Amino acid sequence: MQCDKCSQSIPAGEAVAYQGQNLCEDCYLDLLAAPKVCDPWAVHAAKKEMGDKPELTVIQEKILALLKRRGPLDMQQICEALNISEQDFKDNFAALRHMELARGLRKGDAVCYTLFER
Ligand SMILES: [Zn+2]
Repeated sequence: MQCDKCSQSIPAGEAVAYQGQNLCEDCYLDLLAAPKVCDPWAVHAAKKEMGDKPELTVIQEKILALLKRRGPLDMQQICEALNISEQDFKDNFAALRHMELARGLRKGDAVCYTLFER
């Protein structure tokens, strides 16, 4: 089976059905973390702009600090701890994911967020 979004082949049993599409886990987590289209050039640009020190918004720094202390956490826990809306979280997390500073992971049925491990 192929992922409808990135066309990569998906190992048997790992496809995720989402809104009528069969997606690989990466694309599924992308969709949950960021409803926008994730294009490779955005990732490229984000990495390029990053240089030595990534420029983070206050919310992004708070998300990273929180995940470092208490992660992995789900979206609700993060929003409550930082007192931000789910939309704020999604917008900021999408950037963190593009910069490969944080990522989503599945815990059973729930999606959690954690720091990106290199
Ligand atoms: Zn995919």
